[in-house]
Amino acid sequence: MATLERFHNIVDGGKATAASGRWFPSYNPFTGEAWAEIPHGDATDVDRAVIAADRAFTGGDWPKLTASARGKLLHRFADLVLSEAERLARIETRDNGKLFAEMSGQLRYIPEWFHYFGGLADKIEGAVLPMDKPNMFAFTRREPLGVVAAITPWNSPLLLLAWKLAPALAAGNTVVIKPSEFASASTLAFAELFAKAGFPKGVVNTVTGYGSEIGQSLTEHPLIAKIAFTGGDATGAQVGAAATRHLKHVTLELGGKSPNIVFADARLDNAVKGAVAGIFAASGQTCIAGSRLLVERSIHDDFVDRLLALARQAKLGDPAEAETQVGPITTEAQLKKVLSYIDIAKAEGAKLMLGGKRPEVPHLAQGWFVEPTIFAGVDNRMRIAREEVFGPVLSIIPFSDEDEAVSIANDNAYGLAAGVWTENARRALRMAERIRAGTVWINTYRAVSYLAPFGGMKRSGLGRESGMRAIDEYLQTKSVWMNLAEDFPNPFVLR
Ligand code: NAD
Repeated sequence: MATLERFHNIVDGGKATAASGRWFPSYNPFTGEAWAEIPHGDATDVDRAVIAADRAFTGGDWPKLTASARGKLLHRFADLVLSEAERLARIETRDNGKLFAEMSGQLRYIPEWFHYFGGLADKIEGAVLPMDKPNMFAFTRREPLGVVAAITPWNSPLLLLAWKLAPALAAGNTVVIKPSEFASASTLAFAELFAKAGFPKGVVNTVTGYGSEIGQSLTEHPLIAKIAFTGGDATGAQVGAAATRHLKHVTLELGGKSPNIVFADARLDNAVKGAVAGIFAASGQTCIAGSRLLVERSIHDDFVDRLLALARQAKLGDPAEAETQVGPITTEAQLKKVLSYIDIAKAEGAKLMLGGKRPEVPHLAQGWFVEPTIFAGVDNRMRIAREEVFGPVLSIIPFSDEDEAVSIANDNAYGLAAGVWTENARRALRMAERIRAGTVWINTYRAVSYLAPFGGMKRSGLGRESGMRAIDEYLQTKSVWMNLAEDFPNPFVLR
């Protein structure tokens, strides 16, 4: 067996192994084999990382930096990520099976979050308050929260981490990162770059291990001020409960069951590509997957034929190769979950139009692949239409008019994203207003930007990442009062 590459945690500016000395394997989903080892942390490691972050927040060089100097560090970090983009992309591809073609672009885009929020660092302003009391001067200060726990899932480790780190650091917080146990390697390689960029020690720390073992000690740690979490809604609910119990700030980016809605007047060639982008890109392992395709009845059969023709051509293969379009599922457990949902859909009476199994070709046999799968004749009440599969499984649901499209789209516990395909601008804007989701794409799908707020309605989460306001999620306001009078009047009444 080939030797496994070892990745280390970053704690207090240096590389760290787990206090117990244990390691756990990380698997390459294309080969199904372990390729790396990650420190198997426990509560002791959590404590060590949180204490380092707290020390860096309350003393040392970080709190002494001007906001402009903080911003410059973020710009420097962004440049370093750009110079290491290819290496980081290769690690993430190997670790979670995401296409290198997508990851190399993503790693060149991730620096923009650090430039954007680096630019915002010295534009965080308080206000002088127009006072209603004589001889009183008052102003507000916008201050960081303290130590932020950034908890990320396996499907897009670095992008989702950037969404948290860039505003958290720009606001002056320190951070403990807890990546998913299924894809920790790229995060550890990324975290190493903070010291190289000149960040003081302890500002960015990592702790690796199983969420079930260390999640609680992290979310309940008394020195954690805020939890920024991305993951499933069941875990999100636990994290939210811990945050409430221990009175911590929290943002939750959770799952979705997003409707991708095609009207008869859409540019159908584009809409077909949009449907494919919605569910087969990243093998459907994205929170924003357009996993419910709503198609207007009058074009339904023609549209399904066109979609099948395009989906059939999707090239499954090694995610490291440029021509591959659909890579493996990241974990074996997730592979089983996706296959079980395919069985559920069949048992519910959905009509299997494409895929529905692991590919039967020798060169993909070792990998955790599922064929692009399409079910037609889905009723929105079926489990396949209500629950997040997180894989390349599409449910097609017909609708008759705009009202019915809205009603089906909104009849779901989640509200993360939606797509609307129409050439009618008035209808597009009406739909954008009526759909209960944090993001609505019109005639496009699966687009994100550091400029555009992102987050969920309903069970898809709390709070927003990206965009100018995201920095507010990492700040708190302090009011400062100063008495300008020479005396202090009656002490027994409220002033
Ligand atoms: P998950 O909820 O299983 O795990 C997410 C993270 O939480 C991991 O790091 C895990 O180790 C940790 N964790 C587990 N138990 C914990 C606990 N008790 N306390 C604290 N942390 C704990 O999610 P996953 O399977 O890694 O990721 C897939 C899910 O993430 C999907 O539901 C997907 O929709 C969601 N997701 C959401 C977004 C978004 O921005 N809204 C983006 C990507 C993924």
